[in-house]
Amino acid sequence: MPSAESSNSSPVHSDNETTQTAPEIADSAAEKATFSSIGVMKQLCEACDKLGFKAPTDIQRDAIPWALQGRDVIGLAQTGSGKTVAFALPILQALWDNPSPLFACVMAPTRELAYQISETFEALGSGIGARCAVIVGGMDLISQQIALSKRPHIVVCTPGRLQDHLENTKGFSLRTLKYLVMDEADRLLDMDFGPKIDQILRVIPRERNTFLFSATMTTKVAKLQRASLSNPVKVEVSTKYSTVDKLLQYYMFFPFKRKDCYLVWLLNEMAGQTAIVFARTCKEVLRIGLLLRNLGIEAIPLHGQLSMDKRLGALNKFKSGARSVLVATDVASRGLDIPAVDLVVNYDIPSFSKDYIHRVGRTARAGRSGRAISFATQYDVELLQRIEQVIGKKLDEFPSEKDAILLLQERVNEAQRIAMLELKEVQSKQKKGKKRGHGGGAGDDKQISLSEAKKIGRSGKKHRR
Ligand code: ADP
Ligand code: MG
Repeated sequence: MPSAESSNSSPVHSDNETTQTAPEIADSAAEKATFSSIGVMKQLCEACDKLGFKAPTDIQRDAIPWALQGRDVIGLAQTGSGKTVAFALPILQALWDNPSPLFACVMAPTRELAYQISETFEALGSGIGARCAVIVGGMDLISQQIALSKRPHIVVCTPGRLQDHLENTKGFSLRTLKYLVMDEADRLLDMDFGPKIDQILRVIPRERNTFLFSATMTTKVAKLQRASLSNPVKVEVSTKYSTVDKLLQYYMFFPFKRKDCYLVWLLNEMAGQTAIVFARTCKEVLRIGLLLRNLGIEAIPLHGQLSMDKRLGALNKFKSGARSVLVATDVASRGLDIPAVDLVVNYDIPSFSKDYIHRVGRTARAGRSGRAISFATQYDVELLQRIEQVIGKKLDEFPSEKDAILLLQERVNEAQRIAMLELKEVQSKQKKGKKRGHGGGAGDDKQISLSEAKKIGRSGKKHRR
């Protein structure tokens, strides 16, 4: 049973196994740990070096030795602290020692994150010949079947699509699996994904290693049991739910009807910086994107109702700097690693404090600094207070110039009016498209099954975020 209650800052054993040898890093040496000193083999040390990783981060230093010893690991560390490498290195090393196809499966809650994780595996593992396949919803099924038939070593997936393949792709199974990773584990173990995970776990060998990683972990033993860990080590390098020191967090308080005006003012003030603006619904994301564009701000929307090509396209444009503002739903709140993000704006305050931690964690990553500004209206006071309680910090008020902001109102009104017309046009096009059967492969992983898709010849319809 998982040791959900342990909360030390160094590796801790579950159950009664407190006497087991600790991994070979003495406290004094921990500061100077290198990838080699924590047991990473030469080829992988070289790969880290090529990527510019000079020394392991705290979570890597503390988790990798346990993982190399073959233990199940629950890894809890702040956003941007290098968790991906912490689980990728031990898996690649074990693969090198014992190469076999379909060796590891990494699950992530969003498609974009799955692609990003596979890039890390490829960057670290290509030198040792590791092959990776990405299996996510919204992408062509046949090419995924072909990719799986080539028996990759590592499958990075979203749960729904993996399950479809497990049920419907001839000859594909995970019977040889040695490692299972749940990245953003608390999200994967929650209500939305949980039942799917249960089904997947039924067909995966129980004799395997399991790694759970996140910046926010559930302490509910029942939920962790869902992951069927065996005698896990909990490695925790931050206190529960903390945000990084280099992140400056603010709020702005104003009446609800001024939201757009404040957003436009803020983005103008921050011109030249890269920002992600989070809003609650797909429709709102689309509307804000149109509004900003009407005012000459280069914004691109990302939400679960877009086709997968558009989702990846939007992310790439933002990553490459072709667009400086990404307007997104919570589909972009978990795991995405875009080094250039200077600012996160919570246009809508997230209803769950956990989402706040992940959203603001898109900036100030890997030791960089960043700012997060949350909009609070008369309706959001309680939510804001709850967030402050959870992160254990009071947010500062972001200095603003009310008069200058109100001067923008007229231009914003006009842009809002045009945006609403454009929004209607987009929506009526979408409706027509759907009627003709061009659904555009939507949202996240909760899609029609592979067998259904085969029947009707397309690959998606539902969305959540
Ligand atoms: P997390 O999953 O903890 O949010 P990521 O795994 O996405 O963080 O890593 C955040 C960033 O840190 C990535 O750009 C990654 O390349 C970088 N990184 C990872 N390990 C190291 C390291 N040892 N030294 C320097 N940068 C690192
Ligand atoms: Mg991550």
